[in-house]
Amino acid sequence: MSLDPNAALVLFSGGQDSATCLAWALSRFNRVETLGFDYGQRHRVELDVRAPLRKAMAGLTAGWAEKLGQDHVIDLSVLGQISDTALTKDAEIAMQANGLPNTFVPGRNLLFFTFAATIAYRRGIKHIVTGVCETDYSGYPDCRDDTVKAMQAALNLGMESRFVLHTPLMWIDKAKTWEMAQKLGGDRLVEMIRTGSHSCYQGKRETLHDWGYGCGTCPACELRAQGWERFRAESPLPFSAPQRT
Ligand code: ZN
Repeated sequence: MSLDPNAALVLFSGGQDSATCLAWALSRFNRVETLGFDYGQRHRVELDVRAPLRKAMAGLTAGWAEKLGQDHVIDLSVLGQISDTALTKDAEIAMQANGLPNTFVPGRNLLFFTFAATIAYRRGIKHIVTGVCETDYSGYPDCRDDTVKAMQAALNLGMESRFVLHTPLMWIDKAKTWEMAQKLGGDRLVEMIRTGSHSCYQGKRETLHDWGYGCGTCPACELRAQGWERFRAESPLPFSAPQRT
């Protein structure tokens, strides 16, 4: 199986992290495709923001539109059916006895990586890019560096391939993720991600806060709000929202 070393598949959920990863991939690879999953997530609205955000980002920098290829969406509703979590059921978000929030969907990222590799195999894409990070508040074990490295080994053994799994955000927090977006695409990209991406677990997009749309109180909104505040306070580059025309 020959894999194109200049091609990347980005796991693009529509959130802040994966949008930053998409910009990261567009700045490095010649051909970039995206992948999303419909798994019965409560914040299914994140799937709706993907296409407009992709389109906006494609027009950001000369050459990005030509690089940005197919978008794939896989129906993983079976994951929602077999999981009993606050992300896939209408349950209160809470901490569990094992120290993990009940928004943790067991096996979710492991399945995502496996399906990503299946698509990458078919499309001849060598690089798989994901926005998982260890600094995330939740400590999801399937976002850890060891898990991703083990998945890379397992996928390459099981598919007799040489995929490379990239995690550009693994060791940085949400404030640094905004900084990375600013370096990759300037204030215009920051503004696109601020207003065009979706993080809120409740799926709310009625209110535009400083940091973007969301309910403002769920753990995903809190994390995003804190990251935005630190970014604005600490970023070496000043941010000014581009004027809308
Ligand atoms: Zn929220």
